[in-house]
Order: sequence, then structure tokens, then C-alpha cells
Amino acid sequence: MITRSSALLQRPESPSADVTPLSLPSAWQTQLSRAIRDPHELCRRLGLDDSWLPGAEAGHALFEVRVPEAFLARMRYGDPHDPLLRQVLPLVAENENVPGYVIDPLEEAEHTPRPGLIHKYAGRVLLIASPACAVNCRYCFRRHFPYEDNSPSRAQWERSLDTLRQDASIHEAILSGGDPLAANDRQLAWLVERLEAIPHLRRLRLHTRLPVVIPDRVDDALLGWLGATRLQKVVVLHINHAQEIDEAVIEACTRLKAAGVTLLNQSVLLRGVNDSVESLAQLSERLFEAGVLPYYLHVLDPVAGAAHFDVPDEEARELVAGLREVLPGFLLPRLVREVPGESSKTPL
Ligand code: SF4
Repeated sequence: MITRSSALLQRPESPSADVTPLSLPSAWQTQLSRAIRDPHELCRRLGLDDSWLPGAEAGHALFEVRVPEAFLARMRYGDPHDPLLRQVLPLVAENENVPGYVIDPLEEAEHTPRPGLIHKYAGRVLLIASPACAVNCRYCFRRHFPYEDNSPSRAQWERSLDTLRQDASIHEAILSGGDPLAANDRQLAWLVERLEAIPHLRRLRLHTRLPVVIPDRVDDALLGWLGATRLQKVVVLHINHAQEIDEAVIEACTRLKAAGVTLLNQSVLLRGVNDSVESLAQLSERLFEAGVLPYYLHVLDPVAGAAHFDVPDEEARELVAGLREVLPGFLLPRLVREVPGESSKTPL
């Protein structure tokens, strides 16, 4: 069972350790600490009957429930098929052993030369800036990721940064996790300051779901360090359904754009969440209203416990063909699969 909450950036010598004992948590940190972590409470708050509890408990034992209030507020009460709830509610099916569904579907362990550093593609490296997420998505390909082995100390970070300093072919650093914005701003500013001192680095990319599930994360402190860096800034959000985008999310996106950030979105095609032309089209339209361009539509990575979300390739292609008929080209996400060992995402 992953207990990322307990690892939440508290290692004393980590750049992710906030050493100011008197500092007060910001609004987003309070919301993060109060996220629902009990499957009973999740079912109770949404008015689900008791038949959902055994599955919720069994799945929670594999990968803990975590749902912030701001995300819960966008779910329909009494509807177990709500597309946002489906992403976070554990089901009995997570315990099924399905052939082909594995612990590390992208074989990331093969591409982790140092703790917290993943180097899969030419020109860019991925840094695990935080072991925590604000929300635990049931289909997550890193639901079994060994975060405890990838929460570097400050000295280990320096060695990872040396890898970037010594390789002039690397032009982009990608902060990932967990969710990189689950780290506090002091820690992130420390890291970004070092990254921008590397002359051949041009871009800073963040893969995050936090501005979606806790829009208050986009506060002045975050915009301070992000807006100030010389690096070109790209934030790739993770939104799967139009219902996730409320006015607070639009405001958070507006603030990021005002700080010079290019906003993209990647989604996962999920059975029971967004597996229709209508749903995907509404998502693209709503993303654009928020100032975000659709980037990737991923097919599911075959991670153990998530097989019930799968949409077969043929159906995925038909959905995108249907999308092409109703959307302008710039709102059409690229349908891709991540294949371990490939030099880029594989178009379907
Ligand atoms: S926010 Fe991203 S990394 Fe975290 S659980 Fe969801 S999909 Fe996985």
C-alpha cells in the first residue's frame, strides 16, 4: 500500500523540507491536509449506499483514497457513476489479477539513473519533485511507484542536477511526481533556481493536477517563483472531464497564463469517465474556455488494479475519428500510447 501522505516532503535534509517552524500553512496546504482519506467518508459524503463500501475498502488497502474537498464539490450527490467520482472511488475490480496489467507498466525503473531522476527521452529529463499527490487517481500508472526510493535528499538532488549540468543535450526539465506542486514553494524555488543556472536548459515543464483539484494552489507564492524564472514555462494539466473545470479552475488558469505560462492538457481515455465523443468534445471546448490547449489523449497504461478503465484501441480510434468531425483541429488531442523503450510517445 502506498502511503504517500506520510512521506509528504518531510525528510529533514531534503530540499522539500520546510524548516521554518513558525510558518503557517497556506490555504492550499490546509485543504491538502484535510483531503478525504477514508473510503467510508467518501461514500457517505456522496450519498452512496453500503453496496459500494466493500470495494472502496478493498481498493483503499491497495492504494489509499485521497480526494480534496474542492474536487468533491464538483461531483453529483447520490450518483455512483459521476465521472469525477469514478476517477477516485476504489472498486472491487482493483483486486482482480488481469494478465498484462503490471506494477511498473512503463518500466520506469529501467530509466531511473538516480533517485528522483527519470531519463527516457532525448533532450529532456523528468525530476520527481514530490512523492505526494493531492488526489489519488485509481488508474494512475504510478500507483505502485516506489516513492520511498525516489525522495532525494538535498545532496542527492545536487547529484541529479550534476547529471543535467554535464549533459548539454538536455534542454528541458520536467517536474513531476506525485504532483510537483504538492511540494511547498520554498522547495520549488530552490530547485528552479538551480535549474535556471544551467545555461543549456531552456524550458521548465510541470505536470500537475493540483490547480485542478485545489485551484487555490495557484497563489501569489507560486506565481512569484514561477513568473520570475528565465526558463520558458509550460504547465501540463491533467483533466479528464469537462465537469472538472469550474470557475475557480478557470481563474487559476488565467493567473498562470498571466505569469507567462503555456497551458496544455493531457487526459487519459477512461471507461465510464470520458469514453464518448460527446464527453471528449465537451472537454476540449471547456479546456479552451479556460485557456488550455488539448495536448495528449493517452490510452490507459496497463497498471495492475486499473484494467476496468480500459478502452480498446479500435474504439479509441473511432472516438477520435468522431471528435475530428465535430472539433477544429487545434482542439483535437493526439491519441497516444506510451510504450516502454520507445524514444517518444507512440501515436495510435
Ligand atoms: S495526480 Fe497524477 S500522479 Fe497523482 S495519482 Fe493522479 S494521475 Fe497519478
